Amino acid sequence: MSVARLAELMQDRQPCVVLTGAGISTESGIPDFRSPSGIWAQYDPLEYATIDAFLEDPAKVWEFYGRRLAMLGAAEPNDGHRVLAELEDQDWVRAVITQNIDRLHERAGSRALVEVHGSIRTSSCLACGAVVTFDEVLELLPVPACPTCGRILKPDVVLFGELLPAAAIARATQLAAQAQLLLVVGSSLEVYPVAGLPLETLAAGGELAIVNRDATQFHSRASVTIDSAAGGTLRALADALPERP
Ligand code: NAD
Repeated sequence: MSVARLAELMQDRQPCVVLTGAGISTESGIPDFRSPSGIWAQYDPLEYATIDAFLEDPAKVWEFYGRRLAMLGAAEPNDGHRVLAELEDQDWVRAVITQNIDRLHERAGSRALVEVHGSIRTSSCLACGAVVTFDEVLELLPVPACPTCGRILKPDVVLFGELLPAAAIARATQLAAQAQLLLVVGSSLEVYPVAGLPLETLAAGGELAIVNRDATQFHSRASVTIDSAAGGTLRALADALPERP
């Protein structure tokens, strides 16, 4: 289906809320999770991305996160992130809900941003509560210890087995329910509770649009699906919308 149809839908159905996943950042050189070249093809998430794995062997989890943090810190926002910030400035997009921890939406200029899986902005000490910034933690690699008490820090991202930050998922659920249009970009929609957000929109009478290279469980319920690269598709969408001051 076409970008022109998506632009029409966006004009007819406001407010529009955007939900992004790892697929919006692959054009910034960051691999996604579940594609054949994704992160889980190389690392077993049970060994490297669960809270139990972290509590049992935090140094092993940092082997993975140390490399990941350095890579994410060096990545730059791409056209997809930039277009979403521009569309927010022009009131076409009310908010961006993201599963990504990479801060690229923020760096591209998105302001109404809900990070439901946390972010690499900080790491925390589970023992004494100290909070360390991204730049500080890079200095403390390969196994960052708390500067106050010496315990190994935990990146402030949601690991499998952890609850999502309550305020963030509550806000995301409210935004999804209020959206006349939920535009999903670059997510397999396989990880709950975020994968339940389209149901909130549909149940409240909103419509769904999906820009994703692969089909998802929600494709059959979407009004528009575009199975191509996020950056170019979002730029074409912005070009098809009338500019607003
Ligand atoms: P995903 O890898 O499951 O899906 C990404 C989707 O994007 C794929 O369907 C792929 O086809 C598509 N895609 C890739 N590049 C694209 C492009 N350029 N244009 C359009 N589509 C593209 O990622 P997801 O949906 O974000 O996964 C859900 C979440 O699971 C992740 O965001 C992450 O937060 C997460 N998770 C990570 C950890 C961790 O690392 N600790 C733990 C738990 C969950």
